[in-house]
Amino acid sequence: MDQYSIDEIIERNDIIDVISSYIPLKKTGSNFKARCPFHDEKTASFVVSPKKQIYKCFGCGKGGNVITFVQEFEKISFPEALRKLASRAGITIKQTLQNKGKDSKRDLIYKINELTALFFHKNLIEHGSSALEYLAERSISDNTIKKFRLGFALNSFGGLHNYLLKNNINEKILASTGLFTSNNNDLFRERIMFPIHSSAGKVVAFGGRKLHDEQSGGKYVNSPTTDIYTKGNELYGLFETKYTISKKDNALICEGYTDFLRLYENGFTNSVASLGTSLTDSQISLLSRFSENIYMLYDGDSSGRKAAVRAAGKILGKGCNVKIVGFPKTDDPDSFIRNNGVEKMQELIENAKPIAQFLLDDNVIDVDKKGKLSVLFDILNDMEDEVAQELLSQDIAETFGLSGHAVASKIRKKRRSRKQEIETTEIPQMEQFREERNIILLILNNLSLYKKVAQEIDLSYFLTEKYKEIYKIILEHKENMDNIPALISKIDKENIRNILTELSMLEPPVQTIDDAIIALKTRKLHSDLAALNAKILNDPKNMDLFNKKQELKKEILKINKKVVRRTLY
Ligand code: ATP
Ligand code: MN
Repeated sequence: MDQYSIDEIIERNDIIDVISSYIPLKKTGSNFKARCPFHDEKTASFVVSPKKQIYKCFGCGKGGNVITFVQEFEKISFPEALRKLASRAGITIKQTLQNKGKDSKRDLIYKINELTALFFHKNLIEHGSSALEYLAERSISDNTIKKFRLGFALNSFGGLHNYLLKNNINEKILASTGLFTSNNNDLFRERIMFPIHSSAGKVVAFGGRKLHDEQSGGKYVNSPTTDIYTKGNELYGLFETKYTISKKDNALICEGYTDFLRLYENGFTNSVASLGTSLTDSQISLLSRFSENIYMLYDGDSSGRKAAVRAAGKILGKGCNVKIVGFPKTDDPDSFIRNNGVEKMQELIENAKPIAQFLLDDNVIDVDKKGKLSVLFDILNDMEDEVAQELLSQDIAETFGLSGHAVASKIRKKRRSRKQEIETTEIPQMEQFREERNIILLILNNLSLYKKVAQEIDLSYFLTEKYKEIYKIILEHKENMDNIPALISKIDKENIRNILTELSMLEPPVQTIDDAIIALKTRKLHSDLAALNAKILNDPKNMDLFNKKQELKKEILKINKKVVRRTLY
């Protein structure tokens, strides 16, 4: 896709319209404000500028244009966000040849999965009376069947295979879809089918539950890893529930498909299922984009509880909040709601406990108090984030009636990672580099000024890393310096984009561009002179250095005259 159509997509999708379709925006002055959808906060520090067509969170630092917003909110790729916004604005986009080659296999697998979901769904409605009976027996409604596109795989070795060939799918690709065994037989046979959607709503894999207990194979069979599916990267149901999760600002995580569907049917539409018992870091990151307040609704048996505790530890480690819902030993969310009703479920959620309290009170997991503490200490020591570690140790101390010191002594001190150290030492002193900052602010406020600046100022004038990076971007994109949102689309690095949006949101200094250029030049000449003086001190007889110094002095004089002239004028 060329920049022309990216610009067009930005232009035709007003950022206020788009963002307010995801989160409520409130007008304040010439901007709009909201609570940031990308981090947990009580006060609104997320600002959207209709004039500049960019957004910026002054809490977490995230910023960008309409495309990056959709990309980050929906957790989809840049091309996917473009496609979405293009269709919203009724634009047809052409793909570049390069993209075509790279995407075609993945696109094809997406297409096959879509066809397959249709096929299974049609089978269920038209030929799946036993499966429909089973679902009715489990009181899964028609509406839910439709919404989550449940289906049925017939007891056939080649039904899906033939159907796809009939739909002009090249046989060669079928082995890459994960839908067939190594002998080209259909993988899913006589199973209720649950399509697994990505958070953006595309079918990426399937899970199939056996219809009869006596059938061979596991209770559930899942798609293997493919080009578009990695187990542990997706959350079942999120594509549908992410809006409610974001609005309610909390999420319920259960283990299985049926738990999820029962919760959803009963109004708990802020749920997801992790599919399998170990919640992964990538699933937590995915979910925390929509809310950082998480409830674990894993099965009430010992293995479910242990898994819930492990997951809760990981969630805390990621800086999110978590509580564990304690189901009776023989229940999961599905059976609990069936046996006790919605109100009791609601009550159970309200009584969910933080990890330490949950463990202390637990009498299903077969460990004594010492064992429980050792589980908690392991979790503490796995934590990278020191704040999370501190919070959990306080919680453990209070809950178990220990002194803070006793808990602290259990923490094996981890060495701070080098990366962290480097990041903290690189924070630039803002005032010291006011001249650099002023130039950048002036250009960002009026992009056409870059021409004048570029003639006189090169990269060597910038000593502060962040201003230097932004100036580099400006020099690199001379050709398309029409507007900030378009410029943002060319920036791959997220941290640079965040800096750019931050600076773009600020008021420019009251100074002409000529004065700003002179100020930066003067600053540069003075620091060059200081460096030269230091060299001369070490090498006093070097005539070259001496001559250079004379030249520098002349230049400084010249520039000073210019300043005097400008002031008199
Ligand atoms: P049901 O109520 O239909 O018996 P469940 O959701 O209670 O199912 P569990 O045995 O609690 O099933 O398993 C929870 C989840 O773990 C399932 O939804 C499924 O995603 C996954 N799972 C369970 N058994 C298997 C298996 N044999 N292979 C792959 N995944 C499985
Ligand atoms: Mn279960």
